[in-house]
Amino acid sequence: MRRVLWAVVGVGVLLALLGLVEFRYVGAPLLGLLIWQVGVASFGSLRRGASYVPDGPPRPVDADQERVTYWCAGCGAEVLLLVRGADTPPRHCGERMAERREVPNRT
Ligand SMILES: [Zn+2]
Repeated sequence: MRRVLWAVVGVGVLLALLGLVEFRYVGAPLLGLLIWQVGVASFGSLRRGASYVPDGPPRPVDADQERVTYWCAGCGAEVLLLVRGADTPPRHCGERMAERREVPNRT
């Protein structure tokens, strides 16, 4: 499909360059196609960025079984996870925080 699209674009540009068709008749659809592609790419990035949305209700973390902390590489802040909402690490300073799991010592 993309090959056909690029072939049509190439033929249109070629006809415009040869002066057989006015450039506005080729340029306007190309501009519309560019705007369409930017819009579709923007919505795609929004869909990919929604991984923080939880799948189900929040689940409490059993502190006796696991201790999960998140560390921010930007400012050094560290948070202790008490209730898990989503599997994706939270963000701080615009970046994902690093997860660290500690297993209780059973000795
Ligand atoms: Zn931070």
